[in-house]
Amino acid sequence: MRNFALVVAAGKGTRLGAAMPKQYLPLGGVPLLRHSLVALKAHPGITGIAAVINPEFLEEYEKAAAGLDLLPPIAGGAARQDSARNGLEGLQHLDPDRVFIHDGARPFVDHDLIGRLLSALDTSPGAIAAVPIRDTVKRGIGGRVTETLDRSALWRAQTPQAFHFKPILEAHRAAAGQDLTDDADVAERFGLAVALVEGSEENFKVTTPEDLSRAELKLASCQADIRTGMGFDVHAFGPGSSLFLCGVEIAHAQGLVGHSDADVGLHALTDAILGAIGAGDIGFYFPPSDPKWRGAPSWKFLRHAADLVAERHGAIAHVDVTLICERPKIGPHRDAMTARVADILGIAPGRVSIKATTTEKLGFTGREEGIAAQAVATIRLP
Ligand code: MG
Repeated sequence: MRNFALVVAAGKGTRLGAAMPKQYLPLGGVPLLRHSLVALKAHPGITGIAAVINPEFLEEYEKAAAGLDLLPPIAGGAARQDSARNGLEGLQHLDPDRVFIHDGARPFVDHDLIGRLLSALDTSPGAIAAVPIRDTVKRGIGGRVTETLDRSALWRAQTPQAFHFKPILEAHRAAAGQDLTDDADVAERFGLAVALVEGSEENFKVTTPEDLSRAELKLASCQADIRTGMGFDVHAFGPGSSLFLCGVEIAHAQGLVGHSDADVGLHALTDAILGAIGAGDIGFYFPPSDPKWRGAPSWKFLRHAADLVAERHGAIAHVDVTLICERPKIGPHRDAMTARVADILGIAPGRVSIKATTTEKLGFTGREEGIAAQAVATIRLP
């Protein structure tokens, strides 16, 4: 089965009072949108994911999706319904069997819910996450109750909403120009059966500042297992005219010798992250004996470590790298290194520290025979 997911994040919604749309505001140190992208990405039943975005915010999107290996984003439309339709049209060439349509502002879609929706599609062309209404529901006019409704048949619709691909695309084409409230409504009007699948109260949509605080609290409480890992690495100087340090190429009278690009800072940091999640070391994943990694850019190693954290539904709270060398001088490159590491890890630059020290001309670093680096990573796990 080719199951694709569309994450609709094209809204300009600035109701939260920030300068950018809410899906790009930070939650747990990464853009809100990233949480649902990561959750969908981690489910083995999902073949590919595309976000539907407003191209005006492409740069913010790229930060939110950094390293996740998604399909290219699809440009949204004027209203949410147009965005969903554009998304479906944009997936058509991939010949999907089924499609999940999910709101970019629902960060807590979980693995089991995705599985329940997939199962429901075996017997129904549509299935949506929904929660039964527990409170008594009143109809009221002018501040007075006019009727008490039978809540036993009432549900609150959430996303993901999942469908067989061809019928939902046809339904959306037929509904173009109408103003329907969700994709299930589009399906219902086209005559498609839509199954109700139990969602969860945790799968709430972030709309108000209160929602964002609630999401921060939930995240903190479900990532309360705080781990620290450390890494250390050394590479020797050798012939060359530049070297890589923390992902930035620096002109220098010598290069660094190594099987990969010999970025000693990123190697130490990769090991620190792997250490924090108890996932071995850099040599385990990228053995120097494997010719595949000859000259490899070390950001790939670091990103792999970050992906392993994401797979465990963890978050990188902070990283701190110390480069130990007499030369090159690190100060002039520190901001670029910080930005680069933040970009590779998909976290805010404020969570990245790059420092440098010398060994007062003592030892191999003092004699400028090589560069050493140490790193500490703090990771939050569920
Ligand atoms: Mg190394």
